[in-house]
Amino acid sequence: MNIIDGKAISAKLKAKVAEGVRELREKYGREPHLAVIRVGEDPASVVYVRNKARACEEVGIKNTTIVLDEKTSEEDLLLTVRRLNADDGVDGILVQLPLPEGISEEKVIDTIDRSKDVDGFHPYNVAGLWQKTPHMSPCTPKGIMKLLEASGVDPKGKRAVVIGRSNIVGLPVAKMLLDANATVTVCHTRTVDLPSVTRSAEILVVAAGKAKMVTGDMVSPGCVVIDVGMDRDPETNKLCGDVDFDTVAPEAAFITPVPGGVGPMTIACLMENTLECARARLDGADRSL
Ligand code: NAD
Repeated sequence: MNIIDGKAISAKLKAKVAEGVRELREKYGREPHLAVIRVGEDPASVVYVRNKARACEEVGIKNTTIVLDEKTSEEDLLLTVRRLNADDGVDGILVQLPLPEGISEEKVIDTIDRSKDVDGFHPYNVAGLWQKTPHMSPCTPKGIMKLLEASGVDPKGKRAVVIGRSNIVGLPVAKMLLDANATVTVCHTRTVDLPSVTRSAEILVVAAGKAKMVTGDMVSPGCVVIDVGMDRDPETNKLCGDVDFDTVAPEAAFITPVPGGVGPMTIACLMENTLECARARLDGADRSL
């Protein structure tokens, strides 16, 4: 069994991004600028936004974190987004999800200028992924594909199973695996006899948000297991994944740990997306990235 070291792989990607940032600064006299908006004090969001700011610092990207009150109206949030859209000094805009009740995430995402959509959630970018036209890729699925590549795992011809069909992880990673020529099955809460499906997987991506739900008896020997979950272990209250590492790891050829797997890679891909947005804007290239 090999542990896929997301920390080490993401460190390499961040070093590459840092080099790109230096080149951009030499050419244009400024670094890329990522604006992150957080609404309210959701504890997980506070940590995620802080980690994003730290990563920016590491690679030399300018970061502005805007914190809005929990009671901010949708209109005020949309105004903030529009202001950042119009600001030529801002290259990337990220609104941390989830948003407080009463604010439409859909409206907010639609409002972000697609050329600054570093999360790849704007309908234009989603359509680009599904129609194979130029687009910004969502960070977590992009990071998963890079983890597979860095581990020498080629999805071509393999049976890949994805647990989860969310817009931000399950569906886009399924499409990316399909584009990498895997034969893909997507499982969800209504899937009948999940273990029989997961046992057929040569690559298993788990993004269900259920602590340790995949156990050793659900995977076949030699499977490559990517654990996207960021959960709390109900017994210890510590961070854990959707995969029960202790029973699954002995069966797996490769496995990502939690923490230290998909999480750091997601942030490194956000840095790469920000650099790409800045490059496209500053090079005056086509805004469709
Ligand atoms: P979500 O709640 O939007 O979607 C979960 C999906 O899993 C749903 O499609 C649902 O049908 C499926 N599912 C849930 N329980 C299931 C079960 N028992 N059997 C089969 N399918 C089941 O979640 P999400 O936003 O896609 O996130 C999934 C997990 O990944 C969460 O733990 C989240 O915190 C984590 N996450 C991590 C990162 C990262 O960077 N590491 C990024 C995004 C999400």
